[in-house]
Amino acid sequence: MECIFCAIVEGKIPSATVYEDEHVFAFMDIAPANPGHLLIIPKQHYRNIFDMPAEIGSKIMEVAVLLATAIREALNPDGLNLFQSNEAAAFQTVFHFHLHLIPRWEGDPLRLPWRPSEGNIEEISNIAAKIQEAL
Ligand code: 5GP
Ligand code: ZN
Repeated sequence: MECIFCAIVEGKIPSATVYEDEHVFAFMDIAPANPGHLLIIPKQHYRNIFDMPAEIGSKIMEVAVLLATAIREALNPDGLNLFQSNEAAAFQTVFHFHLHLIPRWEGDPLRLPWRPSEGNIEEISNIAAKIQEAL
């Protein structure tokens, strides 16, 4: 079965498009978490952040800055979340990289999916060292 977001880029499935350039495409999410919820995707198919070139990630972030400003101008939200999922374990349901932009208003129903609590400093430092070694 063809990727649904590739089909959107190709115009085979309609979408409310808000931005398009050579590499990047942005359209409204069909099941918005809040009014103005949109998705930014690379036109080329990458499953998620683990197989997307960093240059494409930079282009997506440039468009995110542009669209965040446009959302603020158009909808006057109190805030905005960037949200991005990689693999099912991290809530990914469509396996073509996408960055969510979700405008936020004070008192809206969205909640953090975790409860922040203090970590163990030694454990945090050990994990930081592991990640640095892997670079
Ligand atoms: P994920 O859960 O993978 O981070 O996000 C997938 C997002 O794609 C969901 O927010 C979902 O509502 C949106 N979505 C899924 N299918 C379609 C579609 O056909 N059109 C649009 N515009 N959004 C879609
Ligand atoms: Zn795709």
